[in-house]
Amino acid sequence: MSALRARIAALLGLAAPVPTRKLTRDAAIVWLPPPATVRLPVAGLDLAVATGELVAAHALVARSPATARWQRRVHTPLGGRVEVVDGAIAVHGAPAAATIEGRHRDPGSLDRDEVVAAAREAGIVGLGGGMFPTYAKLDPAHPIDTVLVNGCESEPYFTCDHRVLSEHRDELDCGLALAMRAVGARAGVVVDREAYYPAGYERFVVRDQLGRDIPVRKLPRDVGALVLNVQSVRALHRAVCLGEPLVSRVITVAGGAVRRPGNYQVLIGTPIAEVLAACGVDPAHAAAIVAGGPMMGHGVAPDDVITAGTGGVLALTAAEVGARAEHPCIRCGRCVDACPIGLPVPLLVERPGPEVLRCFGCGACHYVCPSAIPLTSRLREASVQEFRWE
Ligand code: SF4
Ligand code: SF4
Repeated sequence: MSALRARIAALLGLAAPVPTRKLTRDAAIVWLPPPATVRLPVAGLDLAVATGELVAAHALVARSPATARWQRRVHTPLGGRVEVVDGAIAVHGAPAAATIEGRHRDPGSLDRDEVVAAAREAGIVGLGGGMFPTYAKLDPAHPIDTVLVNGCESEPYFTCDHRVLSEHRDELDCGLALAMRAVGARAGVVVDREAYYPAGYERFVVRDQLGRDIPVRKLPRDVGALVLNVQSVRALHRAVCLGEPLVSRVITVAGGAVRRPGNYQVLIGTPIAEVLAACGVDPAHAAAIVAGGPMMGHGVAPDDVITAGTGGVLALTAAEVGARAEHPCIRCGRCVDACPIGLPVPLLVERPGPEVLRCFGCGACHYVCPSAIPLTSRLREASVQEFRWE
């Protein structure tokens, strides 16, 4: 399918092979009860605390070595006693008292370096799942004319960004103004529209909003755009205006095995088991527990924890998982029609070439394949090979 045909099909709703399943769209955000213990992965970071130490909620507990290319900061959502265990810091205690809300600083009164430093010290990362440090995106080597807040939450089931857009628009508008100040952009847009998967991929958002195509191996900044996730922008407001580090986020909990699906504000470091219990998930009915969405996510265990990049937790039934045995390719062409960039999928799997590097792993081809061929992982392997031989 050519790019033009794909665009027309998308507009007509024909290129929507992946169902949206956004049943929690109207579920207002509620706080999940805080756990007694959070566990914060800190591999590769320098510890700022030691076992037995008492820390206040929101205290810095780990940071990147000064020589690291990208700086990370980890803060504890709970105040209490620290325990250092296997590449993680556990804190046993209680959350901070409620923060003052509704305070907005005037972006014009701030120096751009002040905004970048606040993002860095608050430990803000891409909450869309990438977890790339936001301060580094605010400090680009290329001139940026437009900041886009990506509200096209196209991953099936997920509605948490949509709820943040609906319920915290003032915080987003403030965060957007701060980001524009940081990069010196003239324009800023909150892209607030529901889209079929994978229309929220940032390359499509830049093309749809600005009419600019991003070349292979280039980033939005190479065409003058900065794309930020909705919740990263909210976190930027909260860091600059309220002095709050990144210690919580909104997630969607959904799937056929969830009795109380919804959108929950949850502390980072909360064990997945506590999320499942609070939302009424019976592990015996869940064929798969997935973090990060059914298309781009991965399976998790109950003792894994919510990270900054966890957009949601799905407890899926066997019918939703739909495990099928793999069969040979029947040359039906459905994968090619489903691919949003029109890649010749079966050919690339059989004879990989440089074009495989355009694949961004959305999984739409795999989803529609009647032979249940794991096309996404085959293409990922082919990309690694191609990258190696270049
Ligand atoms: S995973 Fe790659 S080849 Fe498959 S639909 Fe997505 S972009 Fe196209
Ligand atoms: S959808 Fe599956 S069976 Fe059909 S052409 Fe693509 S790889 Fe082959």
